[in-house]
Amino acid sequence: MNGRQDDRDAGLGEDARALLRGVAAFAHSELGPLAAAGCGEQPWAGDLIRQACRRGYAGIEVPAGEGGLGLPYRMRARVAETLAAADFAFAFAFINQHNVALRIAEHGSAAARARYLPGLLTGALIGGTAMSEPRAGSDFAAIATRARRSEGAGWILDGEKAWVANAAGGELALVFAQTDPARGPAGIACFIVDLRAPQCERVAGAPLEGLGAAGIAGIRLTGYRAEDSDVLYAPGQGFAMALAGVNKARTHIAAMAAGLLDSALRLAVRHASTRQAFGRPIIEQQGLRWSLADVSMRLQILRMLADRAAGLIDAGSDEAVPAAAMAKKYAGEECLDAVSACVQVLGAGGLLPAHGMARRLLAAKALCFADGTTEMMNERIAAGLAARFATAPQATAPGVSVDGERGVQYRALKLTRGEDGGTQAGLEQIAEDELPDGEVLVDVAYSSLNYKDALAITGKSPVVRSFPMVPGIDFAGTVRHSADPRFKPGDAVLLNGWGLGETRWGGLAQAARVPADWLLRLPAGMDPRRAMAIGTAGYTAMLCVMALERHNATPEGGPVLVTGANGGVGTVAIALLAGRGYTVTASTGRPQEADYLRGLGASGILDRATLSGPGKPLQKEAWAAAVDCVGSHTLANVLAGMRYGAPVAACGLAQGMDLPATVAPFILRGVTLVGVDSVYAPMGLRAEAWRRLADELPQGMLEANTRELGLSEIAAAAVPLLEGRIRGRIVVDVNR
Ligand code: NDP
Repeated sequence: MNGRQDDRDAGLGEDARALLRGVAAFAHSELGPLAAAGCGEQPWAGDLIRQACRRGYAGIEVPAGEGGLGLPYRMRARVAETLAAADFAFAFAFINQHNVALRIAEHGSAAARARYLPGLLTGALIGGTAMSEPRAGSDFAAIATRARRSEGAGWILDGEKAWVANAAGGELALVFAQTDPARGPAGIACFIVDLRAPQCERVAGAPLEGLGAAGIAGIRLTGYRAEDSDVLYAPGQGFAMALAGVNKARTHIAAMAAGLLDSALRLAVRHASTRQAFGRPIIEQQGLRWSLADVSMRLQILRMLADRAAGLIDAGSDEAVPAAAMAKKYAGEECLDAVSACVQVLGAGGLLPAHGMARRLLAAKALCFADGTTEMMNERIAAGLAARFATAPQATAPGVSVDGERGVQYRALKLTRGEDGGTQAGLEQIAEDELPDGEVLVDVAYSSLNYKDALAITGKSPVVRSFPMVPGIDFAGTVRHSADPRFKPGDAVLLNGWGLGETRWGGLAQAARVPADWLLRLPAGMDPRRAMAIGTAGYTAMLCVMALERHNATPEGGPVLVTGANGGVGTVAIALLAGRGYTVTASTGRPQEADYLRGLGASGILDRATLSGPGKPLQKEAWAAAVDCVGSHTLANVLAGMRYGAPVAACGLAQGMDLPATVAPFILRGVTLVGVDSVYAPMGLRAEAWRRLADELPQGMLEANTRELGLSEIAAAAVPLLEGRIRGRIVVDVNR
């Protein structure tokens, strides 16, 4: 700021200090002419935004792996403050641009990240976020813009958005839309929209006085088609993700207010120190001195509140909600009056365009309603008080109850050991403090019922290592509390493996508390129900495909064999491999399902009986790669029939745990046997597998083969599942 060292810089590294110096120099040299323009004369600052992007400022918080600088949020807040000292409207527009880049970097599909991120980071593309509508502002759940599923794939969007920064000339907008009004907030999704498309009209109107640089405008979508890969937040995630971003938006406003006030105060003090009246500088007059002293104190309070909120956001603390609301409220209530005091010092000259004071006054008013009114801030602060001091927390989902003594109660399927040593399963209320230790408390939305769960529930096999136990080897839901900065309330997450439902309470409950190290973000384009329809079986199939690819399997190499083809792993493996262009042969004991397997993409069907008995150590070189879900003789025969150097991914034991094979395929044909373990697979592999499942598994593939049960119906479904009387996947809605 004006090249002077800020006392807050002491705690920063040299790189961060250099970044702030660079931003201050840019603000001084490039934003000066913009800042000198009169209130009504500022055009949209698109060219300057592109310049700032070229300097790398649009990637401050964007992870380094995605092309950004990977710095914490508080650095972005400091940059916003520095830019706003030159021009509030520019800072507002630029922060919107950064938000779009960050949201796509964190939650966009692989295709969306490849298509948009490079342009957003270099300034070739400029975007803004479209939440408000002509009839829905603070009441965000009331948005009327509709998204309907298009025939086949993609979405069709219709509706009107208001007050979208950069919409006057930018190329992109993140548009929040309702997919199912009956679901209320749970139906809200978010789409990346190309504003240059003919189905998108800009509703520009006159620029807002004093905020022209922000290019705030409306947009009208009429039959706009969004690809599936342009779904930023799937239905069910949109509302939570919008709210999750709001703390940052509010803290930005407070930080920018601090920048604005800082520059107004400097101008006023400089003027008062040089302007003489009655033979001495006017700053020596007590009334005026005290007024400026008061402004400088308010500036420091504003900075402290904004810095505190930014620190809490970086720490992922729940306290960030009231802290951000306090900073924003204080900015809204104090900044206008404080700027006005500075104008008073300059007298009538203060309103000359060159000083930019009128623009600051207008901005100080605008920040009272941007990103939530003062009344909304009061509500957030009061809700924080209630959460901290009230005796009973609020229940949130059907079945979640609040007991005066035991606190929040969740419904769970609980397994206990009876006096006869057998397993007993029953629905019970469990208290929050009964949940195991862990940094993250998750409101579970969906779990699934697997063979292993059925074994646990019936006690047919010693799957459960300690009682009492909540079964459920996987779950997907939303973070409620997090003591780990990697997750914050509202994050959509999923977890599978790590001994869930065996050594650790699992997903068949309304809540789960787990270590943050085990938790994954739900990939973009995937909602909790779909994640559980894919489940551990589908994820294992993807691990198998990735294992084959790591060992040089290619679609051109030759046919791929999948054994246990009709199972959960087999079906998804067939669809994934066929989708990537492999020629797939399915080995099955159920020839009556051949059409179904062909529909998934299998081009050949093999009777599993040809593989399930003892065979020769080396057989005809048939397969260029294989996924084996079966083990025993089947795997031995698969190995014996592999081509030279071919890989086999082994994940299952449906036929048996044994492997009656010889070393011949390995030492004479260089065959590779790759073990696939889903339970303790490293996090990088897991994240990659789930991200690829979101991108590569056809949307409709699982629907026909998935049925949904409520928590209360699970115990009864375990026996038929073990007896093979249930075909396909079972997802469990734990809230019914
Ligand atoms: P499913 O029970 O859904 O399917 C297994 C399939 O194997 C059946 O549909 C059947 O296919 C085939 N099969 C069953 N019995 C025999 C038999 N005696 N001989 C030959 N084939 C048989 O299981 P999943 O697909 O969910 O899992 C497959 C295997 O992978 C299981 O053994 C499971 O325990 C294991 N697994 C391992 C994981 C890991 O981390 N490694 C993770 C998840 C699963 P068809 O009717 O087409 O013949």
